[in-house]
Amino acid sequence: MEKLQQLYEGKAKKVFATDDPELLIVEYKDDATAFNGLKKGTIHGKGVINNQMSNRLMAKLESAGVPTHYVKELNQRETLVKKVRIVPLEVIIRNIAAGSFSKRYGVEEGVVFEQPTIEFSYKNDDLGDPLINTYHALALKLATPAEIETIKKYAFQVNDFLRAFWKSCGVTLVDFKLEFGRLSDGTIVLADEISPDTCRLWDSKTGEKLDKDRFRRDMGGVEEAYAEIMNRLETHL
Ligand code: ADP
Ligand code: UDP
Repeated sequence: MEKLQQLYEGKAKKVFATDDPELLIVEYKDDATAFNGLKKGTIHGKGVINNQMSNRLMAKLESAGVPTHYVKELNQRETLVKKVRIVPLEVIIRNIAAGSFSKRYGVEEGVVFEQPTIEFSYKNDDLGDPLINTYHALALKLATPAEIETIKKYAFQVNDFLRAFWKSCGVTLVDFKLEFGRLSDGTIVLADEISPDTCRLWDSKTGEKLDKDRFRRDMGGVEEAYAEIMNRLETHL
C-alpha cells in the first residue's frame, strides 16, 4: 500500500490518498481544538491514543454487526480506512445530560435519561455546526430517508455496545458524536473516529472526567486522563 498525496488536513487528522482509489490513510495529530476552533492547543500523545482506541472500538463494533470504515492499523498514528463520502451530519447520542444539552435546555449535568436521545448537527464549520432535525436534513438533501433510518439504527446499536463495553471498564458513557459515510456502492458505514475527543467518559465510581472536557474546561490532567482511559480499554479488551 503506497501513501500518496495529502487530500485534507482537518483539526485533528490528516487524510492521504493511496494507490487504491477505494482506500485512504488517516493520520492522527496531537492538535486539539474546541468551541468551533476558537480554543487551540496540543494534547501530547493524543494522536496515538485516539488512533488506537478508535481502531479497537471499530473492530469490536464490526464484529457486533455495525459496518465501519476501519481496515488496518498501519502504525501508531496512521490507519488504512475505506474511502467514504461523508454524510455531513454530526450524529450525537446522549445517555446523561452534559455539555450543550445541559446549557440549551437548562438541565444540570449528570441527570440520567430514561432513554438515550439522538440529535443531528449540520456538519458545516462556517455555520458553526447548527442543530437540525431530520426534516431539515432531508430539505437540505444531506441524506435520503432510508439513509437517515440506517444511521439512526446504527447509532443506537453503537450506543448499546459501547455503553456495555465501557461499563465493564468502570467507565460511564455519557454522550458521543458519530459520523457516517457512503462507500462507492452507497453502503452506509461508520467513519471518522471514536475517541476521548468525541465521547464524554466519566469514571463510574468517582465521576472523574476522562475525556476532552478536561481540555475544553482547563481542568488540567488532560494527558493523564487520555492515558488512563486508554489503559482501561487495554486491560478490558
Ligand atoms: P475536521 O474536518 O472536523 O477538522 P478531522 O481533523 O478529524 O476533522 O479531519 C478528518 C476528516 O476526514 C473529517 O472531515 C472527516 O469527516 C473525514 N473522514 C473521516 N473518515 C473518513 C473516510 N473514511 N473517508 C473520507 N473522509 C473521512
Ligand atoms: N462532539 C464532537 N464534536 C463536535 C461536537 C460534539 O465530538 O463538533 C461530541 C462531544 O465530545 C460530546 C458530544 O459530542 O461527547 C456532545 O457534545 P455537545 O453537543 O454537548 O457539545 P459541546 O459541549 O462539546 O459543545
